[in-house]
Amino acid sequence: EAIIIDGKEFSSNLRNKIAEDVKTFKKERNVVPGLAVVLVGEDPASRIYVRKKEEMTTAVGMNSLSYRLDANASQQELLDLIETLNHDPAVHGILVQLPLPKHIDTPTILEAIDPDKDVDGFHVVNAGRLAIGTPSLVPCTPAGCMMLLEHSLGSLKGKNALVIGRSTIVGRPMAQLLLAADCTVTVAHRHTKNLEELCRQADIVVAAVGIPHFVKASWLKPGAVVIDVGINRVPAEDEAAKAAGKTRIVGDVDFVEAAKVASAITPVPGGVGPMTIACLLNNTVQAARNLTSAS
Ligand code: NAD
Repeated sequence: EAIIIDGKEFSSNLRNKIAEDVKTFKKERNVVPGLAVVLVGEDPASRIYVRKKEEMTTAVGMNSLSYRLDANASQQELLDLIETLNHDPAVHGILVQLPLPKHIDTPTILEAIDPDKDVDGFHVVNAGRLAIGTPSLVPCTPAGCMMLLEHSLGSLKGKNALVIGRSTIVGRPMAQLLLAADCTVTVAHRHTKNLEELCRQADIVVAAVGIPHFVKASWLKPGAVVIDVGINRVPAEDEAAKAAGKTRIVGDVDFVEAAKVASAITPVPGGVGPMTIACLLNNTVQAARNLTSAS
């Protein structure tokens, strides 16, 4: 039976450590790290995410600066705001909550953020730094996955790692990080053939697909370490709750069965999810360090 990797506890310890880092940083440089969070429009899920990020930012002693633009704000208005934040010395991290309304071109917005303040790590400059092996600000979800993997395995050197999914926010940067940690990396996606066979050879499986219970226990090599990034909303299990329209969150891995084969596995919820915001805060402190030491 696998060890259940407790992302909630890990993230809570990490946030405590970040709070200490922020204290030290304040003492040494007389500066409070500041994270600017920009939300365009009223998407209910985005509003919840943004509020959570803001709460956790202040909880570790950093400044949280909130910017809300109307759903029909123009692309130029958003670019102007980013330009202001790029030049604001109180802002060390800039996060533009995605998805943006359809009339705004997301790549144009992401490329407008100063790469040294790009705490989401989505700017091409940061993607490029990661790809050539000189990572600076790394996308938060894969950064969190790496922490959990290193916590479980110690060195990842020489391990066969399979990443399922190739999105720019999870799969691709995840593959780059595993490569940087000296794994032999395979990236699978919707056109991949023989996925089950590839999975059977993997010491590490990272699932970032977005399909509930996609990865089956029978695909796993006994003793594999499984990181489940998926967040999928499905009808509640309980019949009465289901009838009432209640839902629950499950991952991309058939957790109950997979836990009988794997040596360690992340649950959903309570695995990778809580790591993402902690890594965002970590990136903000990192950005503040870089920006203030350069000046
Ligand atoms: P995405 O939709 O951008 O990418 C999904 C990837 O899965 C694609 O590269 C696609 O090629 C691949 N794929 C689809 N069907 C496949 C199949 N049959 N076989 C193999 N590969 C297949 O999704 P994403 O943004 O990378 O997110 C993936 C999942 O992770 C989602 O459930 C999302 O909600 C979740 N997520 C969680 C966090 C977190 O904080 N824990 C952060 C981001 C995303």
